Amino acid sequence: MEAVRRAKAASRRIARLLRKQSLILMYHRVATSALDPWSLQVSPRRFAEHLAVLEDNYRVVSLRTLAGALRTGRPLERAVAISFDDGYVDNFLNARPLLEAAGMHATVFIVTAHLESEREFWWDELERLVLECDDLPETLSLDIGGERRSWAVDLEPETGDRDPCRLRAWEGAPRSRMALYHAIWESMLRLPTAEQQAVLAELRSLTGQSAVVRSTHRTMTVEELNEMARSDAIEIGAHTVNHPYLTAHPEASQRHEIEHSKATLQAILNRDIGCFAYPFGEHDRVSARIVRASGFACACTTIEDTVWRRSNPFLLPRFAVGDWTGDEFAERLRQLMG
Ligand SMILES: [Zn+2]
Repeated sequence: MEAVRRAKAASRRIARLLRKQSLILMYHRVATSALDPWSLQVSPRRFAEHLAVLEDNYRVVSLRTLAGALRTGRPLERAVAISFDDGYVDNFLNARPLLEAAGMHATVFIVTAHLESEREFWWDELERLVLECDDLPETLSLDIGGERRSWAVDLEPETGDRDPCRLRAWEGAPRSRMALYHAIWESMLRLPTAEQQAVLAELRSLTGQSAVVRSTHRTMTVEELNEMARSDAIEIGAHTVNHPYLTAHPEASQRHEIEHSKATLQAILNRDIGCFAYPFGEHDRVSARIVRASGFACACTTIEDTVWRRSNPFLLPRFAVGDWTGDEFAERLRQLMG
């Protein structure tokens, strides 16, 4: 049976390599900071190495171009589109100059409530309060969406130690800080924004912390967004108003999140916003229908695959890129695209 399974997997891989296909890369941050629990950062040096690999081996096109070709039924061959989610300021400060220097194009998906926001994304603030805080109680008890939840806290790890390897080593340990972070994150994921903020407020009050926006974790301002959008290297896309887990929310709320983010960006930038990305990649038939009815030309998920003739323009797959060396990046792309 194992041999049959392997043969089928190999034939699927060969079929995939033979089809005419393109690829959408998904980045989040081009930055270096020690704490990165979701592995969302690529260092500027490595991002430059990735761009060099793309320049030598592939045809980098805008997402709009890639999706336009798909709609004609003829996906571009060996074409790659670059995308960034969330609108962190390092996209503006670090990624944009490298893209411009390489003469390449990227789409940046913006969470509109965070333009000029006085707060970090909830998952970043949670990271600061749980992973960086020395003042957690031995038992952490929080009201999560109307339900009182309690966790035992491992007070042992040196939280001042920013060595990411050490941080990773906590992951497997029961009751570790990283496990605690993931458990609270999971319990907050599907809540409405106001309830997520209430959890963070309780956590701040329990730990005596105030709400701060770290310069390393802030998102772009409206001025920076405007300057970013003036660059020939950048297309702006929408990523909802508050970055909710869309399918956990009623249709009216999904519609508001999707339509309003498009309208806000169009009003700021005075241009059509044609591309959308589902927060957390989360979507269902309802959210895809709303995106299509809102006048977007395409939408991106986080399903890992290449784009080919049968891909749905409103459920485009993307390939998440890690902090890999140029060689590793090249090898991963070769496995996908041949
Ligand atoms: Zn996102």
